[in-house]
Amino acid sequence: MITVEKALEIILAESQDFGVEKIPFMESLGRVLKEDIGADRDFPPFDRVSMDGIAIYYDTYKKGDITFPIESIQAAGAEQLSLKSQQNCIEVMTGAVVPKNVDTVIPYELVEIKDGKAELSTDTIKQGQNIHRKGLDRKQDDLLIKQNTIISSAEIGVLATVGKATVKVAKQPKVMIVSTGDELIEVDKIPLNHQIRRSNVYTLVALLQELKIQADTAHINDDKAILKQKIEGYLLDYDVLLFSGAVSKGKFDFLPEILEELGVKKQFHKVKQRPGKPFWFGAIGPFSINDMKIGNGNHKTTIFAFPGNPVSTFVGCLKYFYPWFRKSIGIEYKNLDYAILSEDFTFQPALTYFLQVRLQNENGRIIGTPVKGKGSGDLANLADADGFLELPADKTEFRKGETFPLIRYRQY
Ligand code: AMP
Ligand code: MG
Repeated sequence: MITVEKALEIILAESQDFGVEKIPFMESLGRVLKEDIGADRDFPPFDRVSMDGIAIYYDTYKKGDITFPIESIQAAGAEQLSLKSQQNCIEVMTGAVVPKNVDTVIPYELVEIKDGKAELSTDTIKQGQNIHRKGLDRKQDDLLIKQNTIISSAEIGVLATVGKATVKVAKQPKVMIVSTGDELIEVDKIPLNHQIRRSNVYTLVALLQELKIQADTAHINDDKAILKQKIEGYLLDYDVLLFSGAVSKGKFDFLPEILEELGVKKQFHKVKQRPGKPFWFGAIGPFSINDMKIGNGNHKTTIFAFPGNPVSTFVGCLKYFYPWFRKSIGIEYKNLDYAILSEDFTFQPALTYFLQVRLQNENGRIIGTPVKGKGSGDLANLADADGFLELPADKTEFRKGETFPLIRYRQY
C-alpha cells in the first residue's frame, strides 16, 4: 500500500493537456487563461479629469486671480474642448478629457459658482492636481494578466476594458462520473428498505461544477459483463472516468479486474489513508495514431475509482482529482491552506487521517474543530463540516494548537 504523498505524486505525474479553446469572455469566469493579456492602449487613454469641478490655467491663478468666468462644460464622453481665454475656466466632469489650455482641476467643493463665474474658496492649489495623466497606470502593450491565471471577477473587468470579447482558455476535460451498485436508485424515487439514493454522483457533479467542468453521469449495476461493456465505451469517449464504489474487497467489487482486463494500466490500488483506503487509480493511452479503434493519436483516459462510501468519494475527489485537474490545465500544485487544531485528537492506525473540521477565523488564524462523525459512510456529517485536516500517518497524537494542511470545501 502506498502513502498519500506518493499517491498524489503519481497522480500529478499523470496530468494531461486538454488543449485550448476560445470562448466569450463572460463565460470565462473560473477558467484558466491561455494567453497573455496586454494593454490595447495607454491607461488611462487620455489625460482624464478625476474630480467634478472647474479646470483652469494655473498661471492665471498664480498671478492672483481667484474668479474665473465659466466658458463651457466638458462632459465625460464629449470631444476635447479648448479654453479660449486664460482668464476663464471650463466646468469639467469626472471621466472627461482634460480640455486644451488648462492644467489644473479644482473640485466643486472648493469653489462657489454665482452669475456664471466660479470663485475659489481655497488657497492651496497645486498645478496639475486632479488630473489622471495618460498612461500613468499602464502603457500600451504592458502585460496586464499573465497566461495560466485563473480568471476571477477582477480579470473579467480587465478583459472587458481591453476589448477581449473572446478569450483563450484551457479546454475542460470530458468527464464521465459513474456510480455502481445494485442498492442505488435515482434521487426522485422512493427507496425500498434495502436501497439508497445514489448521492455520490451528484456530490461529484457538484464538485466538478465548482471547477467549471460539466460532467456526464451514468449508473451501472453490479454486473460484470455490463460494467465491462459500458466502461469500454467510456474509455473511448472520455478523458476522465470518475467511479464511486466497487473497488473494495466485496464479492461484487468488479472494477479493478475489469479495468485491467480492458487494458487500463493500474498505477496503484489502496492508499494508506482513512477514509478512502481502497482508492484505485490508473490510465490508458495515449493511443498510437494507428489504433483504428480510437482514431485519435492523443487519446488518453485517466481513471479515478473511489470507494463508494460518501466521505471517501468526497475527500478523494478533493485530494486527488482537484490537484490533477489543476496541474493539467497549467496551475502549479501547492497546498497553501492550513488550519490549527482546536483540541487534542488521537488516531492510532498508521494511516493519513482526513479529519472533518468546522472552521473558524479567530483574528486571522484559521481554527479547525473536529466534527464527530460516524465514519466514512456518514454523509450528513459533511454538511456540518467545512473541510478536512490532513493528519499525517506517522503520528498518533495530534495536539491542540498544532497546524495541519487543510482541504476546505466551503470558502465562507
Ligand atoms: P462500495 O465501495 O461499492 O463497496 O460501497 C461502499 C458503500 O458506499 C456502500 O454502503 C454503498 O451502498 C455506498 N455507496 C456506493 N455508491 C454510492 C453512491 N453513489 N451514493 C451513495 N452511497 C453509495
Ligand atoms: Mg458497491
